[in-house]
Amino acid sequence: MGDGGMRKRIANILAAPEIGAQLQVGGWVKTRRDASGFSFIEMGDGSCLANIQVIAEQSLVNYDQEIKRLSAGCSVLVTGILQESPAKGQAVELRAMAVQILGWADPEHYPLQKKQHSFEFLRNITHLRPRTNALGAVARVRSRLAYGVHTFFQERGFIQVHTPIITTSDCEGAGEMFQVSASSVRQPGGGNVDFFGRPAGLTVSGQLQAEVYSQALGNVYTFGPIFRAENSNTSRHLAEFWMVEPEMAFCDLAGDMQVAEEMLKYLLRLALTECAEDLSLFDRFIEKGLSARLAQVVEQDFARITYTEAVEQLLCSGQDFIYPVQWGIDLQSEHERYLTETVYQRPLIVTDYPAAIKPFYMRLSDDGRTVAAMDILVPGIGEIIGGSQREERYDVLLARMQQAGIDPEGYGWYLDLRRYGTVPHAGFGLGFERLIQFVTGMANIREVIPFPRTPGFAPC
Ligand code: ATP
Ligand code: MN
Repeated sequence: MGDGGMRKRIANILAAPEIGAQLQVGGWVKTRRDASGFSFIEMGDGSCLANIQVIAEQSLVNYDQEIKRLSAGCSVLVTGILQESPAKGQAVELRAMAVQILGWADPEHYPLQKKQHSFEFLRNITHLRPRTNALGAVARVRSRLAYGVHTFFQERGFIQVHTPIITTSDCEGAGEMFQVSASSVRQPGGGNVDFFGRPAGLTVSGQLQAEVYSQALGNVYTFGPIFRAENSNTSRHLAEFWMVEPEMAFCDLAGDMQVAEEMLKYLLRLALTECAEDLSLFDRFIEKGLSARLAQVVEQDFARITYTEAVEQLLCSGQDFIYPVQWGIDLQSEHERYLTETVYQRPLIVTDYPAAIKPFYMRLSDDGRTVAAMDILVPGIGEIIGGSQREERYDVLLARMQQAGIDPEGYGWYLDLRRYGTVPHAGFGLGFERLIQFVTGMANIREVIPFPRTPGFAPC
């Protein structure tokens, strides 16, 4: 495609329209409507939610042969003059000098018809669904917020660490590991050995390795794919998802919560200012009042209660929960959502969970039965962040590992961090897709990742 200098993205054209300029736009037809002597072509190019309207007059050489056969999904390259639009609904339109059809999309078979399709239907065409308004908007918001994660941490001096995807430590308690198994290697003397000399799997969390770097570089973060073979077919779980995991040295639980709250508010503010057009779509079609709700979250302090207080509130609630409540249980989604949606009606940080239900690395409190843990719960979703101050005391950590039935042998490196220059430190994990669900109002996590992987489902 020549004329690179002339070819423009619709987002840029609409942001700063140059009336009278000659330019070229490549995109996909949304609709075609014929009037007497010309046709209107609505085309989008994915750069923003808005389409651009093309006016194609019947004097164009391919008008009868081609332009009048255009239908949804066809790809075109239009060269034309940008002019003010006399009609309502758009400020500018492109008067075509040439419409080149790059690819036809047979209207008999193209699955994306003009009507609204259900998200369930769209999941079965993951290769075409980003062409819909909703999934395109999700992709843009996701990209902007992923970038925002980096700016948030980089602006504060955090150093990004690429933690491994293949690992031999399973970050106990985080979830079931996918085994990396097919890679056995033939020994010269015959027989097979594990590629890595011992069982390995896909990471369920980058935390333990992020801790290593926090104990040398201070404040670090990792942001990468996470794999969990948990067989949970819920609207909030994926087998492959992305996690943001900062780890901060010389930091306690209070500092951890402060960074987490600041980060969430930063990302929400970013979405409200930089993704306003896409959010307005979600506001109209996915969750009424979404933008106002997000703006309110940014303004208010998050609520904070201890696990023990949470249990008391649940017991006094008079609610009929499926999972009965008593001190020591792991809070279920129904409990979390009751607290954040009904009682507090805003994000809620629950702290100081029973040691028995949390992983060995969380710092044991002086009461001997709780750990310095915190979960952030948000309306509509439940847990979005899980974090803790880490156990920095060698003896206590060793004892906790033994209690949990973990062989310290495999974690010598982790224990070493406590033997040589140990420091208090803390961190958390933000499920990136749950954040995108919160920002877009999407009910199902399968809609906020381009290619969802769930039990029995990984089509391409
Ligand atoms: P849950 O109780 O919701 O299953 P978890 O306590 O197992 O989550 P953590 O190990 O604390 O999750 O992971 C940190 C964050 O990662 C969670 O707060 C959540 O936002 C996200 N997360 C965890 N599991 C999944 C998953 N299977 N799919 C998508 N996001 C997830
Ligand atoms: Mn958790």
